[in-house]
Amino acid sequence: MAKRDYYDILGVAKGADADEIKKAYRKMAIKYHPDKNQGDKEAEEKFKEAAEAYEVLSSPEKRQRYDQFGHAANASSPNGGGYGGQGMNMDDIFSQFGDIFGGGSPFEGFFGGGRQGGGAGRRVARGSNLRIKVRLTLEEIANGAEKKIKVNKQIVCKTCDGSGAKDKSSFQTCKTCGGSGAVRRVTNTILGQMQTTSTCPTCNGEGSTILSKCTVCHGDGVVRGEELITINVPAGVSEGMQLSMSGKGNAAPRGGVPGDLIILIEEVPHETLKRDGNNVIYDLHVNFVDATLGTTVEVPTIDGKAKIKIDPGTQGGKILRLKGKGVPEVNSYHRGDQLVHINIWTPKALSREERELLEKLQSSPNFKPNPGKNEKSFFDRMKEYFE
Ligand SMILES: [Zn+2]
Ligand SMILES: [Zn+2]
Repeated sequence: MAKRDYYDILGVAKGADADEIKKAYRKMAIKYHPDKNQGDKEAEEKFKEAAEAYEVLSSPEKRQRYDQFGHAANASSPNGGGYGGQGMNMDDIFSQFGDIFGGGSPFEGFFGGGRQGGGAGRRVARGSNLRIKVRLTLEEIANGAEKKIKVNKQIVCKTCDGSGAKDKSSFQTCKTCGGSGAVRRVTNTILGQMQTTSTCPTCNGEGSTILSKCTVCHGDGVVRGEELITINVPAGVSEGMQLSMSGKGNAAPRGGVPGDLIILIEEVPHETLKRDGNNVIYDLHVNFVDATLGTTVEVPTIDGKAKIKIDPGTQGGKILRLKGKGVPEVNSYHRGDQLVHINIWTPKALSREERELLEKLQSSPNFKPNPGKNEKSFFDRMKEYFE
């Protein structure tokens, strides 16, 4: 998908000054903030898109490069692949806010339970990230999977709606800081009066205190609970890969920003198929009679059974390639192949008749190994394997 123009994203003119850009971004960040748009993928994308646009346009140097070269300008930035879509994570975005909103984040004030906004020293409570493991079969990895998983975590207390208070009237503006969440202290120094601001110790920067606490969560605004989370795992993931769902981690106390859910991918080994990157390898055993006379056999694939032809005179070590029967690359239409590795099976036990039959053949000139020039060497085969 083509990237949208950064100026268009923020809805500002090309010549907009720093202040206009900041103002425009502030508006977008509030509108699409994940707390306000829980579970809305589109809002989340817009939120990230705006953050990315602001990241570039707020830096005179990056902006100049962008104006000159467009999106290509920052593609090879040392910042972990530039600003390409998933370049910025939620932590990066939230850490920008200190700069944009002056001190704390406004979201506590906007979305938290009935508190006043603004003021230096206000704190945004942040829920911790949560890690879970998801086990996937090879078929699920090949096709992508929707996993519904019950996650044990801190969830918003339903009784008080996360506010921690018994009811609306239980809130009292903090007397120490007057609701600003910060306290100022003036000290006399040699250089004159110095004013310092620090987080209010009474309300912990929240701006209000709770007179009577919610009896269910005891004022925390969060309780231990379960959430059924639907995880859309894209096709092509592999063991050890981590996916992250922003805002799906632990809920934060009293209306803060929830943490992220980190999903660690584990592969369940397949009974007969082995994965090698995007390829799938299958070890096929055919007896030497079938290999000599030729036959058709069924082999398992990710998509079910497939028939393959074994040509007369097939040698052991031959690799047959089933195009497109492998694992797709993540976020790509390219799919790997299935490689069928042919092993010649030699019987280990023989009846008397079988032994006699074979003894007749043993000295036949056609049974004397005579690899021709066209026979592929082990080295050729290995090369073929990995190409
Ligand atoms: Zn206070
Ligand atoms: Zn509660």
